Amino acid sequence: MLKEYTIGIDDTDSNYGMCTTYLATLIVDLLERIGVDFLDFPRLVRLNPNIPYKTRGNGAVSIKFITEEKKIKEIWRESIKLVETYSDIDETNTDPGIVLQSGKPDPRLQQIYQEALYSVIKIETIKEILNKDFNGEYFHIKEGRGLIGASAAIGTDLQSDYTFEFIAYRDPNIKVSKRLIDEESVILADESTALSFGNYDYIHNQLMITPHGPDPVYVGIRGENARSVIDMWCKIKILEKINTIMLFRSNQHTQPHFPKEFNGKEIKPHFSVKVRGTVNSDPYLINGGHVLFPLISDGKSINCAAYEPTKIFRHFVRELTTGDELMVYGGVRPASDEYPITINLEHFEVLKLKKIISRIPVKCPQCNGSLKSLGMNQGFRCKRCKNTLKEKDFGYQLKKRGLRTGVRYTIPICAQRHLTKPLSRDVTLQFHKMSKKPFESEFREFLINRNDLIEKSKI
Ligand code: ATP
Repeated sequence: MLKEYTIGIDDTDSNYGMCTTYLATLIVDLLERIGVDFLDFPRLVRLNPNIPYKTRGNGAVSIKFITEEKKIKEIWRESIKLVETYSDIDETNTDPGIVLQSGKPDPRLQQIYQEALYSVIKIETIKEILNKDFNGEYFHIKEGRGLIGASAAIGTDLQSDYTFEFIAYRDPNIKVSKRLIDEESVILADESTALSFGNYDYIHNQLMITPHGPDPVYVGIRGENARSVIDMWCKIKILEKINTIMLFRSNQHTQPHFPKEFNGKEIKPHFSVKVRGTVNSDPYLINGGHVLFPLISDGKSINCAAYEPTKIFRHFVRELTTGDELMVYGGVRPASDEYPITINLEHFEVLKLKKIISRIPVKCPQCNGSLKSLGMNQGFRCKRCKNTLKEKDFGYQLKKRGLRTGVRYTIPICAQRHLTKPLSRDVTLQFHKMSKKPFESEFREFLINRNDLIEKSKI
């Protein structure tokens, strides 16, 4: 009898190697060998980016398929073997977990997915679900924290907004951080592939598709549909040997991690939060190039920070002024010895700009020197030529602000997290042509062409 199943995996990698998506690719290979019908592309799910134990991007993977019930024992046994063989378990922070769901995803896991996007989930909560009336199996090594991400990945829906990522892998034994690639070919390909995004940061001149760690990912190409990322792949010049490739459907860059508005009193460390408030004093620069300001929300002052890596975004933050009303979005950093609990800003929207009235002229009309106040209603004296001006000699004007309401000010591509929705998507989505083909047939087509796509990269 045919039956639907979903496998979820997480936490198989470490800072020294491996990648959960690579292990998922090996499981897809295994399923192909045993013979199943895939129901979708494998799903690459990013969860709360502020989780402290993440290795890089807090990603988990799930794979949905239909197969004969009699094959599932072998599939489960062999999948566990792959987790045991390939997980980087010598590393203290690697805590692999794999979950097999029989039938449709358990609604409790769907709920876990929604919560895992922005909050911190306890491993006990997951084990309680998996141990009580759960239609499936689970396996973990060590504490099995990976069961959290594995379960959430099973519960994901990817119904409304989603993106694609094409990943090419090198031999996992290669640990050098540099990837050899023809950068110019990436820029040219990017310019001619409208529906692939985030390939290059043109403001800061940075290639974005190559990671910098010791993991097996050679490049990750992201886009609105399967076609755009495959096109990009075909256009770029590869300068290394490619081991294998995979195409994932994902929640990356859809910004699902701010579903809930928090007030100043509710925010908790490591949560992803959206907070409405008023700028309580003008932003200021500190050592290291970070820009800080306090925001008052529900009577509580919260520190907000645009850190140095957010580059040009800090200029927008510095345009803010006391009294501006905002909706800020970001991750909550716990208090340290030096700083209070702080929102690490990912973006902000201006709800209302404070009107600032400035006196004109600002400088001395005779010599352009600076004016010094002589006291309340006493007028001003020029510091340089000593010319004096009375109150009646001045006019007033509304100061022109460098920000506008209704605009989403966001961090640049080079600082973006996997879930951040880039501004370019607001535009491309308007002419985003959804493929009419069901995902299962699109993925089947990809698997059929997979060898040719690997072949094309031969150097
Ligand atoms: P990569 O992106 O390379 O796959 P990673 O950044 O995903 O690595 P992991 O090694 O998977 O990092 O570690 C993240 C850990 O956090 C996993 O054990 C996962 O189960 C757990 N986790 C994910 N989301 C949450 C959450 N919301 N609450 C608690 N734990 C979580």
